[in-house]
Amino acid sequence: MDYYRTYSSYLKEKYGEKVYKLPIALPVTCPNRDGFCGTGGCTFCGEIGAGYENLPEDLSVTEQIERNIAHIAPKYKAYKYIPYFQNFTNTYLPLAAFTAYVDEAARHADCVGLAIATRPDCIHPAYLDVLAEAKAKYGTDITVELGLQSTNPHSLLAIQRGHTVGEYIDAVLQIAPYGFDVCTHIIANLPWDDRVDVREASKIISALPVQQVKIHALYIIRHTLMAQQYTAGTIQMCSLDEYVDRVVDFVELLRPDIVLQRLVGRVPEENTLFANWGRAWWVIRDRIEAEFARRGTRQGSRCGYLGGAAVKRWV
Ligand code: SF4
Repeated sequence: MDYYRTYSSYLKEKYGEKVYKLPIALPVTCPNRDGFCGTGGCTFCGEIGAGYENLPEDLSVTEQIERNIAHIAPKYKAYKYIPYFQNFTNTYLPLAAFTAYVDEAARHADCVGLAIATRPDCIHPAYLDVLAEAKAKYGTDITVELGLQSTNPHSLLAIQRGHTVGEYIDAVLQIAPYGFDVCTHIIANLPWDDRVDVREASKIISALPVQQVKIHALYIIRHTLMAQQYTAGTIQMCSLDEYVDRVVDFVELLRPDIVLQRLVGRVPEENTLFANWGRAWWVIRDRIEAEFARRGTRQGSRCGYLGGAAVKRWV
């Protein structure tokens, strides 16, 4: 039984074969780190951003693609790829540099798509035009991965995110006419959020032209502001049972066509104070699937709130 629309099956349906994402690191920072809208970054963000799987950023995009392929092709038997500009904020680059990196990745013969991780306040038509040009020139499918993390403005302030939900909605609506996929990243267990917040995040995302979602469990990296709060006991992590409940609530409310890239992140334990309750990611995924089975629900089971719920029965 499929309880939700998985990314692997979506890629297989779309391309007719296994497709693998390749992490690519660019020499880029973030407006929430360099002083434009903050200097310390989000309170959970470590010095290497999300890039613990990445190769060094001083390697060219082509070299990173080739090295990743050499590792992945024999191991996973995948021969088509989606380079993923993963680390920090990948549209926070001078336009000429961004254009060159996008072109280099998109023209690779084995790459069918390109995924760009960024922040909602770094979406601008000039950058979207660059992606549209790559799509037109090479047939590359584009996914823009937007970090949102929470739709609770108080939580976004608490993690010093430097933007709120308004910028996220603006970004999604700017991207929509280009026909790119939008993947929204959510953290389901921020200490300032409860189940009500997580459910509302699912409803807001479902009401927008969003095609993919990636759900993470918060992990606490040493030497971050959040690590200090955790050590001082001023924030607590919810239990694994609570995380499972929040994710199942979220997915039940999510539009059934939205693809779920992940229900929990894959994180390294080293250099962290807290990571996935000490469990492997697939153990948590299995617990989530067991909860769907127990409730007898699946993705979209509770999605009837869209499209005029109160009057639908009269038309
Ligand atoms: S937006 Fe991303 S890269 Fe920037 S500080 Fe926050 S987590 Fe780090």
